[in-house]
Amino acid sequence: MAKIIVANWKMNGSLAFMKTWVPALTSDLASTSNQVIICPPFPFLFPLSAALKGTSAHLGAQNCHTTPHGPFTGEVSAAMLADIGCQAVIVGHSERRTLFSETNDLIKAKAEAVHAAGMTAIICIGESLTIRQSGRAIDTVIQQCQASLPPSATPENTRVAYEPLWAIGTGLTASLREITEMHQALHAATKVPIPLLYGGSVTEENATDILSLPHVDGVLVGGASLNMAAFQKIIR
Ligand code: PEP
Repeated sequence: MAKIIVANWKMNGSLAFMKTWVPALTSDLASTSNQVIICPPFPFLFPLSAALKGTSAHLGAQNCHTTPHGPFTGEVSAAMLADIGCQAVIVGHSERRTLFSETNDLIKAKAEAVHAAGMTAIICIGESLTIRQSGRAIDTVIQQCQASLPPSATPENTRVAYEPLWAIGTGLTASLREITEMHQALHAATKVPIPLLYGGSVTEENATDILSLPHVDGVLVGGASLNMAAFQKIIR
């Protein structure tokens, strides 16, 4: 079955990087049925949309504001992102929740704005190591998921990415058992079957095993998406 592969470049990349990265990816995009969504920093969205023209890849942003326009210096609206060809926006990444104090309510409003602009919201959720060690991971993540999903969410316009905080950028991956338990619980808790992604130190070595688990519809890849050879293997 086709899977969803999201590349989150975070605050990395450059025009020069894109010039080598995109052509290397083109043949893999042509031969895969997986849906690839590439999320570079804002300045690279427009040039990347031109570079990806004619390929099956989708363009995604890493954040957006809740309103379409207005006096919000430094912000970018979902409507603007749709205007330049974005099809998806990551909202509520743990780095935004932790470093920029984003709450479930704000993330829900951002996801709603993404839907209103006709795009797909990739809503990130996940527990801290302390919560995992206290045995409250599943309850915490389910609660976070329910509090971040807007009423406008459907299986077509939303993906939920389970990303344990302790596994992001650390080289520690959740075990296959931990991922299975969480995805089963999330699948049971969401009223409609929203596609579920896993994120947290996904590499070319562990992607196949993770993507074979029940209720894992795709992966969100940070660090390994910047390594062309690794990302090509994940797509394949
Ligand atoms: C991420 O950016 O959400 C992520 C999971 O990063 P990494 O793959 O580097 O852990």
